[in-house]
Amino acid sequence: MYVCGVTPYDLSHIGHARAYIVYDILLRYLRHVGYEVRYVRNFTDIDDKIILRAKEQGEEPLAFSKRFCEEFHKDMADLQCLPPSEEPRVSDNIDLIKDMITQIIKNGYTYTIEKDVYFSVDKFPSYGKYFNLKRQNDRPGARVPYDSRKRNSSDFVLWKSAKPDEPSWDSPWGPGRPGWHIECSALSVHYLSSSFDIHGGGRDLIFPHHENEVTQSCAVCTQSNVSYWMHNEFVIVNNEKISKSKCNGPTIREITKNYHPLSLRYFLMSSHYRSPINYCSKRSLESSSEIIFYIYKTLQDCEEASSQFRDGSYKGSIPSDIQNLIDSFRVNFETSMSDDLRVPQFLCKDLMELLRIMNIILKKNFSVPSVAALRKEVHNHLCILGLMPTTTCEILEQLKDKALVRAGVTEKQVILLIEERRAARENKDFAKSDKIRQELDSLGISLMDESGRTVWRPSMADGI
Ligand SMILES: [Zn+2]
Repeated sequence: MYVCGVTPYDLSHIGHARAYIVYDILLRYLRHVGYEVRYVRNFTDIDDKIILRAKEQGEEPLAFSKRFCEEFHKDMADLQCLPPSEEPRVSDNIDLIKDMITQIIKNGYTYTIEKDVYFSVDKFPSYGKYFNLKRQNDRPGARVPYDSRKRNSSDFVLWKSAKPDEPSWDSPWGPGRPGWHIECSALSVHYLSSSFDIHGGGRDLIFPHHENEVTQSCAVCTQSNVSYWMHNEFVIVNNEKISKSKCNGPTIREITKNYHPLSLRYFLMSSHYRSPINYCSKRSLESSSEIIFYIYKTLQDCEEASSQFRDGSYKGSIPSDIQNLIDSFRVNFETSMSDDLRVPQFLCKDLMELLRIMNIILKKNFSVPSVAALRKEVHNHLCILGLMPTTTCEILEQLKDKALVRAGVTEKQVILLIEERRAARENKDFAKSDKIRQELDSLGISLMDESGRTVWRPSMADGI
């Protein structure tokens, strides 16, 4: 599987998070069903935006982009996206990109203007037909600044000659660097082969990037080499597509400062990858934080209720109705996931239904092996989906920590307020005890009186 990577000139935003979570889930699921997956994702670590930003910051372009590659890795690790098998950077692979350009030139598809090498789409009659698109974006200036020297406005650059003070590499066409599209053709052939199974990327890459990729690969091998193309939809923020240049989408880092990365992962998983997802800032994250707290709390309650079966020794003693539940849960998971990754169907319906039943069982005079078996089942499926990075206990603690950050209070202050409320209640000062509860509630901290003691948990804050 080859997935188009980022151009690291800034922190990545929520749209990147969505794309890479989609392919992470596909990767995890394919491995779960037994495929051996080689996953390649590139870094466009040299391009115009990188050079411009690096200049503004007074940094050397490749050092600048390297820094943002590292930031990207941090975000991906936070979001539980598994690392690719190979993560080639353009700057490390110039030779093989030059080899492909040489081949395309040899096959007669190019022309050169002032040491810039262009692909001539007029020499490739099926250009634009692979994705069968109306080329509505194919207007001069629609995507890239209009270059009046081009023979056809759809012609695209394979090799850009170097301007003064820009990083450049020697080539038969003079010093310069590769155009954007050629890297994915060259890297996918080199790190996978000329034929491979899945090519992924955001929907915005279909044209011109992926059309150009197919065109270049065909210009070298005479046929398209990808079995399945997969494109994920956008994240919409205030009815607008996110673009880094407009700065209208939050960065992953801005979100994970206040919310658990799993809240973001869950939120982005809760829409099908081919549907746009509407991000309504805090509301989306508060609500997914609530849901994931519920998921892990249910698991923790089950762990406590079935601690003597932690080793899995309950086998054979599960009532048949529970076994049936587990069996259909598994079938539903495989059915949904195998049908074009219908993750939301599983998460929002099947998982929620099983958790609801688990909570009912926990309140009744439950059978311990049943609780242990159900817990194990949910745990295993969360692992497959990258939603079980550590123990439930630790995740719940982390969720509480983030709730305290959002509320702007410390746990110590919450405990003092709980104590103050207890004293007020003892003195029958219910107005005061209610006030304390309401104030904490409005901050997203909910108090619960449980068998003689008061505990707190995160909840939706006021005004959300
Ligand atoms: Zn690409």
